[in-house]
Amino acid sequence: MIKNQCEQSDQSFGWEIRQNIREIRENIKEAAFSCNRSEQDIELMAVTKTVVPERVNVALEEGISLLGENRVQELCQKAAFYRASREKIHFIGHLQTNKIRDIIEKVSMIESVDSLHLAKALSLECEKRAVEMDVLLQVNIGKEETKGGFYEEDVLEAMKRVAELPRLQIRGLMAIPPRSSGTLYFQKMQELFLLCKELKIERAECSVLSMGMSDDYKEAIAYGSTQIRLGRAIFGERPAVKPL
Ligand SMILES: *Cc1c(COP(=O)(O)O)cnc(C)c1O
Repeated sequence: MIKNQCEQSDQSFGWEIRQNIREIRENIKEAAFSCNRSEQDIELMAVTKTVVPERVNVALEEGISLLGENRVQELCQKAAFYRASREKIHFIGHLQTNKIRDIIEKVSMIESVDSLHLAKALSLECEKRAVEMDVLLQVNIGKEETKGGFYEEDVLEAMKRVAELPRLQIRGLMAIPPRSSGTLYFQKMQELFLLCKELKIERAECSVLSMGMSDDYKEAIAYGSTQIRLGRAIFGERPAVKPL
């Protein structure tokens, strides 16, 4: 009797997360189908900011293959409790150069390389440790002051420069378009991504286009996103951020 109750409560822990993920997968399937894409080409990342490790682990149990963390300190506190290896964790937030060493061995990709300064520092640290790092170049596609990233017109040059740096492997582009801006910026990102692909810059592979969040991932899929980053749609609303 007691055992049964325990089993039940174990299974019901995080049921809403499991349900959300199932619904999202259906939505991905539909969105992909309606633009003639294969759902296999779209990776679902669970964005874990403010989410406790127990709940993150529920998402992993549901087969989520990628976690995104955007704060260094939070990543360092939580990563050891995730049932996920470094391979499954990407960093997606602004990274200060003095924090590189804190995360370099905890993540397999830094999606938010937003300046040459950061790329150079990252390359140096990788050389020191004799490790490789996958990176995406973050594009400030809406030219917003509050966001980091390269402007659209600077991306190709930046890509060439970053590709020359040892130990970094460019895998593609990432963007956080302005809120409620419709599809204009997704379209711009898709064009830029295709251009980078066509130009075949040496040592700069362009296979990942990381864009689309909880409110707009279906649109992002229609514009060629290969990786959507969802927080609230999986884990529910986040608590309001406390002022420091
Ligand atoms: C928080 C965050 C997300 C997810 O946002 P949701 O609206 O919760 O889906 C995606 N990308 C980045 C870089 C984030 O910081």
